[in-house]
Amino acid sequence: MSKLINQKDLEFLLYQVFQAEQLTELPHYSEHDRTTFDGILNTSSRIAEDYFAPHNAKADEHEPQFDGEKVSTIPEVKEAWQHFADSGLLCARHRYEDGGMQLPSLLHMAANAYFMSANPSTAGYPFLTSAAANVIHAFGSDEQKATFLPHMFSGRFAGTMALTEPDVGSSLGDLTTRALPADDGSYRIKGQKMYISGGDQDITENIVHLVLARIQGAPQGVKGISLFIVPKFHTSADGSLGPRNDVQLAGLLHKMGYRGTTSTVLSFGEKDDCHGYLIGEAGKGLMYMFKMMNEARIGVGLGAAMIGYRGYLESLDYARNRPQGRSPAEKDPLSKPLNIVEHTDVKRMLLAQKSYVEGSLALCLLAARLVDEQEAGENADSGILLDLLTPVVKSFPSYYGPRANDLAIQVLGGAGYTREYPVEQCYRDNRLNPIHEGTHGIQSLDLLGRKLWQHNGKGQQLLMARVQATLKSAQGKEQLSELTASYQKHLNTLLQTTMALGKALQSGQVSAALGNSALYLDMMGKMVIGWLWLEMADKAIDTFGASAAEDDQQFLAGKLQAARYFIRWELPEIEHQAKLLAGFDDTCTTMNPDWF
Ligand SMILES: Cc1cc2nc3c(=O)[nH]c(=O)nc-3n(C[C@H](O)[C@H](O)[C@H](O)COP(=O)(O)OP(=O)(O)OC[C@H]3O[C@@H](n4cnc5c(N)ncnc54)[C@H](O)[C@@H]3O)c2cc1C
Repeated sequence: MSKLINQKDLEFLLYQVFQAEQLTELPHYSEHDRTTFDGILNTSSRIAEDYFAPHNAKADEHEPQFDGEKVSTIPEVKEAWQHFADSGLLCARHRYEDGGMQLPSLLHMAANAYFMSANPSTAGYPFLTSAAANVIHAFGSDEQKATFLPHMFSGRFAGTMALTEPDVGSSLGDLTTRALPADDGSYRIKGQKMYISGGDQDITENIVHLVLARIQGAPQGVKGISLFIVPKFHTSADGSLGPRNDVQLAGLLHKMGYRGTTSTVLSFGEKDDCHGYLIGEAGKGLMYMFKMMNEARIGVGLGAAMIGYRGYLESLDYARNRPQGRSPAEKDPLSKPLNIVEHTDVKRMLLAQKSYVEGSLALCLLAARLVDEQEAGENADSGILLDLLTPVVKSFPSYYGPRANDLAIQVLGGAGYTREYPVEQCYRDNRLNPIHEGTHGIQSLDLLGRKLWQHNGKGQQLLMARVQATLKSAQGKEQLSELTASYQKHLNTLLQTTMALGKALQSGQVSAALGNSALYLDMMGKMVIGWLWLEMADKAIDTFGASAAEDDQQFLAGKLQAARYFIRWELPEIEHQAKLLAGFDDTCTTMNPDWF
């Protein structure tokens, strides 16, 4: 089995759970069929195995270097980038006439999963570039599109998103980078940005920074923020390059993981000559950037899920081959040792990983399916549901992916702690995910303070309708009756808690209601993943229940057991969380900073 992903699992999710082939009935995707979808997955798997996975550890050991003039990365990164670009994956989602493949988001997400598992830090460059290109495509002028997009799609130019500043991270409304209008209609950008991924590198000819800045005289807060294209090299309309723009690399940051992706501090306009080009309307920068960020948030969820998935498969392989110890009932010291996969505690750790990572992958594919439904106009409500779920899609995998990697290390014992095995790198890489693209805490405020109540709570109703449909189908199956009953009980707890928090918010008790929002995010994540486990179990019975093939029966049994594990072992935690939330527990709120 590939150590990047379980192909049978991916195909099951795509074709049985999320009905990928139905998408080919939509006019936009009518040129596709199962063969083209499988072809794209095979190409992605091959490029990921051949050009991304082999240098994952090397890129971690040999971080990019900056000699004061130039950044250098190991050559394998550029080679992988080129193969990715040549495959057409940089513009896979775009229309045929723009050089794209008109690939549904669902398939694109599945293709990306291979790269995230193989080498998340090298995959960072193309994924950021695609996201930046999508913003220009959606909001840029015709001239901007013509100047930059063909070269971003072909791999000549890369893209970045430059929001964070040394003193402004979560609170983007406070950002201070300035944009001064120039006589030629462009702007002169001045300020410093920090942590910018891919902000400098030696992989592409040019870098297209998307920079948030405040036009001189604009109001404070988010309404004063605009979005600018700031190329590293001045770029003519035909894509030819002029001299360097006034964007300087102030330094590289050295990190615990994701070490193959450069993390940069960038100075804009040290010589007062940094040219920036306004995207769309002034003051709408954050709104435009949210397009990139929402896409990036789902991408972060996928990255976290897949690094978790990789660790799971590595630890599973190790556990199947490592003989150690005997069963507690075995008294004969000469008896053959068991492979550790036979020990109940090791099975517990593998089951937990399986339930987190396969559940997380299902969640990310659900988000992609909703994108497709929204874009196709197949279901106008899908966008509302996607909006509600985005903080969960970003956060559940980001929180439970590193937990899965922690368990993978534990399964390997001492070997897991050494650099001889990849699981410690998985953990270090994955630890970024609850931090960037809006921290865990910020996502929880977004969910409880905003997303739940948008459109008069319609997102919640849409979610419940889908959950009820799964419950209805699962209730008819004997193997799932215990699980559906207990899921329903915990779901009621979630609904009551949500109502109590909503009432508190309505009556102006904002701090009390939002104080424990991180608990709520976790609760909601568990309910959504519990639902997806029921859905997977239900569909697995439908698909494989009558099959005589041994691997089908094992796959089905594995799905049922992981659903059991998640619903029996993990889901009940929400009862305690609900008590703290609905009781407005003030232990953290009333803690005085001076008491620490
Ligand atoms: C490896 C890496 C890559 C990155 N790539 C990029 C990139 O490409 N482009 C880019 O623009 N940025 C990037 N970032 C920046 C990243 O998005 C920020 O680090 C993140 O938004 C958090 O900001 P901060 O680090 O300033 O932390 P802070 O905002 O200072 O937050 C610190 C802690 O305080 C909490 N906190 C802050 N405000 C609140 C609040 N109101 N309520 C409750 N808790 C709060 C946070 O949840 C967090 O736990 C990257 C960061 C890293 C580490």
